[in-house]
Amino acid sequence: MRADCLILGGGIIGLMTAREIVRKYPDWDVAVLEKSHYFGDGATGRNSGVLHSGIYYEYGSLKHRLCMEGNRLWRSEPSAIIWACGKMIVGDDLSELSKRAIQNDVRHRKATAQELLQLNHFTKASEAIFVHDTAVLDIGRFIREIVVELTEMGVSLVPNFEDTGLPPANWTINCAGFGAIDVRTKLGFKGYSQKLVKGRWMASTYRFEAPWLIYPKPLPNLLGLGVHSCIEPDGSVRFGPDTVPVDRMDYSFGDASELAEAIVQQFPGVPKSSLRPSTVGIRTKLNEATDFVIQSPEKGYAEALGIESPGLTAAPAIAKMLSSLV
Ligand SMILES: Cc1cc2nc3c(=O)[nH]c(=O)nc-3n(C[C@H](O)[C@H](O)[C@H](O)COP(=O)(O)OP(=O)(O)OC[C@H]3O[C@@H](n4cnc5c(N)ncnc54)[C@H](O)[C@@H]3O)c2cc1C
Repeated sequence: MRADCLILGGGIIGLMTAREIVRKYPDWDVAVLEKSHYFGDGATGRNSGVLHSGIYYEYGSLKHRLCMEGNRLWRSEPSAIIWACGKMIVGDDLSELSKRAIQNDVRHRKATAQELLQLNHFTKASEAIFVHDTAVLDIGRFIREIVVELTEMGVSLVPNFEDTGLPPANWTINCAGFGAIDVRTKLGFKGYSQKLVKGRWMASTYRFEAPWLIYPKPLPNLLGLGVHSCIEPDGSVRFGPDTVPVDRMDYSFGDASELAEAIVQQFPGVPKSSLRPSTVGIRTKLNEATDFVIQSPEKGYAEALGIESPGLTAAPAIAKMLSSLV
């Protein structure tokens, strides 16, 4: 195989980047090489599925700017958004978060007294901020659709790729998520390393019919966003994710008792007996940077590193940025 552009990694970033490259260079041979036996098997298929607003991130950072742009771009993907519900962030002192929301130009307001009463059916809320531009994506469906779209565009989609040496290409774009550091190291680039933080969710049979997603205040240093409610495409609810540092990619669930306790602390109405282990995902965090790193260190090679949350939301904007480097 020889391609004009090889994309390593068939998660949301790799697939959306392939589409941007073909839109920019319709005559190019583009291939997406995916290590797993299906596309979206990494963080893309193992997250909260939430379209974030941009409230949490440092003003002007790539996370902030690409999250805001990605949020807007997702709205032109037919059928991707399944619930434009907004989000309630609850906590004791939300003044810092409010300041950041204003600075980041994120649409938000204080919850009304009526909403606080309603929130207290589900959680413990003395204060809450409602964030408008938060929604739920059906990412499984979107991956199936973009795989069909890319095939029709003539992109070669190669699952089960064994990385024993790359086929020749004019451009290689590294979108390998948890494998991105390995890929760049093999290509001779130095300077970045990563840590892995597992996140686990529990599904619940309890009828949790809050009209919004409910989040606590984020954890210090944005290690995670805190155990929150998530809505599945079928309307069922899951709670999570927690933050468990791990030293390898291992999706086993392990002991669920601490997570179950954290869920009932946050959502006292949810019976522990209604909870069962559900999805597991692994966050990839750079040791050397807190922001996304999206760059082309030399002609013919571009990369996206540290694409943790809000990478799903930012994906369409990251794809545009990567394709602008090519
Ligand atoms: C717990 C958790 C919750 C999250 N919640 C949200 C959320 O609600 N909203 C949000 O916006 N973001 C969220 N995120 C972040 C989001 O999921 C990621 O930022 C996004 O999925 C990253 O996409 P990706 O394509 O870079 O990575 P991935 O989806 O991991 O794709 C990388 C792909 O590369 C493949 N690969 C690895 N090595 C190689 C190789 N050598 N050759 C070829 N292929 C290779 C992998 O198999 C994988 O499929 C969350 C993430 C986690 C873990």
